[in-house]
Amino acid sequence: MTDRKENPYAQVADDTFAATPRRDPELVRRILEDPRMYDHKDGFQSCIQCGICTSGCPAARFTDFSPRETARRALDGDATLLEDDTVWYCYYCYTCQSRCPRHNSVAVINQVVRGMQVESGRGRPHVAMFADWCNNFYEQGMGGDPHLMFPAIGEAWGPKWRDHMDHLLEVRAELGLGDLFPPEAAVREVQTIFEATGFKTRLAAVRGEAAGAGGI
Ligand code: SF4
Ligand code: SF4
Repeated sequence: MTDRKENPYAQVADDTFAATPRRDPELVRRILEDPRMYDHKDGFQSCIQCGICTSGCPAARFTDFSPRETARRALDGDATLLEDDTVWYCYYCYTCQSRCPRHNSVAVINQVVRGMQVESGRGRPHVAMFADWCNNFYEQGMGGDPHLMFPAIGEAWGPKWRDHMDHLLEVRAELGLGDLFPPEAAVREVQTIFEATGFKTRLAAVRGEAAGAGGI
């Protein structure tokens, strides 16, 4: 086995990774215990800093975000990750996960870090824009209301599409597809799940409506 002192990369590792400013064991615990990490625990703890995740990451190509750094900082329990806005550049394409030779998942790590940022309040501006969309899910069983997009799409796609959309419900009825929105019973089921999992409290906190909302 090669002596660590003779390994030219050991020095790089010592210099680059040794100085973690603040450690937060809760960060490592939350990642390891997150159900989405069930298949990636070993990979998380055995990241070799190869950088393959960063080389294939579309977000890293155009921003300061680095999946390789995120993997290392998360494993270090580096608390600065919980104040780092660059994790919000990830958009969950899962390229990092599919290419990682250790089967780590920076995509999931980002989800946990983002969740912790939302809980602390720091991440709320990043999710506040989705509050109405989420509430639509609660109210009508689906997030996006397609009708809101129709005018813009119609402008881009022209009169043939607009004519089709004007008769959409008739076409759907003819095909036996029913309304665009889920039936009332299905919406009620969605609402039951949302209520049981504290959706309303979280939504209020994200909107800044809850007094002294620290954790959500
Ligand atoms: S591809 Fe996997 S092993 Fe390589 S740096 Fe990224 S997370 Fe670590
Ligand atoms: S899931 Fe996120 S971190 Fe991974 S490659 Fe895609 S954008 Fe990059």
